[in-house]
Amino acid sequence: MSNKIVTKFGGSSLADAGQFQKVKSILLLDPNRQYVVPSAPGRRFKEDDKVTDLLYRCCRQVQAGEDFQDTFDLIAARYMDIAEELGLTVDLGAALDEVNERIAAGANEDYCASRGEYLNGLLLADYMGWRFLDSAEVIKFDQNGLLDAELTNRLMSERLADGIPTVVPGFFGSYYDGTVRTFSRGGSDITGAIVARAVNAAVYENWTDVSGFLMADPRIVDNPREISGITYMELRELSYMGASVLHEDAMFPVHKAGIPTNIRNTNNPTHPGTIISLDLPYDEAHPTITGIAGRKGFCVISIAKAMMNTELGFSRKVLSAFERYGVSIEHLPTGIDTMCVVVAGDAFAPVKDKIINRIVEATNPDTITVHDNMSIIATVGRGMVHNCGTAAKLFGAMSKAGINVRMIDQGSSELSIIVGVDDKDYEATIKAIYGAFVNQ
Ligand code: ASP
Repeated sequence: MSNKIVTKFGGSSLADAGQFQKVKSILLLDPNRQYVVPSAPGRRFKEDDKVTDLLYRCCRQVQAGEDFQDTFDLIAARYMDIAEELGLTVDLGAALDEVNERIAAGANEDYCASRGEYLNGLLLADYMGWRFLDSAEVIKFDQNGLLDAELTNRLMSERLADGIPTVVPGFFGSYYDGTVRTFSRGGSDITGAIVARAVNAAVYENWTDVSGFLMADPRIVDNPREISGITYMELRELSYMGASVLHEDAMFPVHKAGIPTNIRNTNNPTHPGTIISLDLPYDEAHPTITGIAGRKGFCVISIAKAMMNTELGFSRKVLSAFERYGVSIEHLPTGIDTMCVVVAGDAFAPVKDKIINRIVEATNPDTITVHDNMSIIATVGRGMVHNCGTAAKLFGAMSKAGINVRMIDQGSSELSIIVGVDDKDYEATIKAIYGAFVNQ
């Protein structure tokens, strides 16, 4: 492993000239920071627009036959202000004109959106005096729009092999034929992880506007503790439940390559942030749990049938009903004669009757019941396996708070305990669990 550091800066970290100055001083502080992945300029204040949103708006306006120039002028002004304040010499006017012309000519949505990162990358490269590498040349998607991870890794490592400090704009790449394609929203995180893998970085630093992850949602728990270290597997369990500071897909390239990710705060650069790594030593002084996260709005379909366990193909028949109507499954707690399928309520509602009918036809169950408005809450911790009584403590806290547990699922890795409660009990459950493990 090298000692190279790959940095990615989010939209708020590069929202104006003042933020660019902070980024430059962070980059210069450590000579190992040789590769930087910028997002598009984000919000400077609460009501501000993100440049990416403005670019999508331009595209929609062109499609609707409306004039998009006012929107485009807002975008151009964001970049021109930065360039002017920082005294940059890059020919921004020519780059903006080209984008403007292509949008006017009906460029596709992905091309429009990608220009936010592209233009910000040009500015940052000029400001740093670093090379600019167009991501469309090195990040490749196949005909189905899926990232071609191996080709991308090869192209990216070849282009960065000379060790020259480089700016690689986030969020986009291209199909094999060169047509621009973006990742889903927040996708610059993925670009950063791809670059980190390609140069075999010692660490992938993801700079944002928070000092890492918190153990619980601060809108629910007052001043939750910060998480200093978390494993990729733990984070997967948590982010999957919605606690994402980091794009979910950004974990895969670095997790696979064993490269740690460090979430850092551009506005508080001395804070060590959160380290996400493959493995972390168990620290006895640490709480048993690493974090709690959840989401509302699930639906639980419970199917019961005597002797279900002996009926060959029973689960397949149930699951294929969901597959057929395009509903993906979040959890699958089962008992000997019961099977529960947990799905997102909004995806299930439009096809509910069709799926239920199909299950009834295919499996002839004794009963089938549907509970709407359920919350799923995951309590995650690598420490669980080292401590007995974790479940007792968790359920004890819930019962003391008068919360009815509707579903329980413990991950086979002993990394998480997942509970289902009524949506109305969501906040109280998180508070009760946090209180039991942290504020003892
Ligand atoms: N600018 C893009 C977005 O707003 C991608 C990113 O910031 O990561 O989603």
